[in-house]
Amino acid sequence: MRKKIEEHQYEEGLQECKRWLENKYDGLTENKEWNDFGLKDIHISKSGFSSGWYGQGSPKRMNGKRIKIGLRGCDLTSSYCKKLEYLTPIGGIYVHRYVGYKHTLLHELTHLIQYIQQRTYSEVETTKNELEYLLEIEPRYEHQLISYEERKRQELKKKEWMDKQKELKERTMVEIEILKYMKENVSELLQPEKGELDDTQKSLITEFCKIKDPNVVMNFDV
Ligand SMILES: [Zn+2]
Repeated sequence: MRKKIEEHQYEEGLQECKRWLENKYDGLTENKEWNDFGLKDIHISKSGFSSGWYGQGSPKRMNGKRIKIGLRGCDLTSSYCKKLEYLTPIGGIYVHRYVGYKHTLLHELTHLIQYIQQRTYSEVETTKNELEYLLEIEPRYEHQLISYEERKRQELKKKEWMDKQKELKERTMVEIEILKYMKENVSELLQPEKGELDDTQKSLITEFCKIKDPNVVMNFDV
């Protein structure tokens, strides 16, 4: 995916998002705060991942800017809002950085509108706008969006897979320990006539054989 944003595109993208929102919300174009809001109020971080809206005064490092856009986080679009009829798949959707920039900006600008128009602060509204906008400018992403039920299914499958991986990893660690032990004690284990195998040795040999065949049944009474 293309990661380059031309210098002039920052302003173009902002204007595009503002026009889109002005069509949607009445009264914006008569609002001074909205009209004055520009790139000067946005902190664009080329190395940052996170984006956000700072309604109640911005942190010091932001020098009074109200919106932060972390460009590296813009490459991957992901939404999780079960109140909406569509969501992104569990791994998100990769988009061109410029598309991601506009898409993120639209989300944060919606927070600005909530602030200006004293609407309730809501992530449903921002996410809804964001996805609507994305589908409008990039309709080819429509087929990638999924329902909440499908997203739940994906999450469950992912969890199952991860549990399985964890189990396999733990099993491997045990096997490594057994192999180490066998290597260090091979001479003793190969000469049982020197004495009876103790329980630890028996279980280790059993575990060792299970590596090759998980169903093996050991008999030490020969
Ligand atoms: Zn938000």
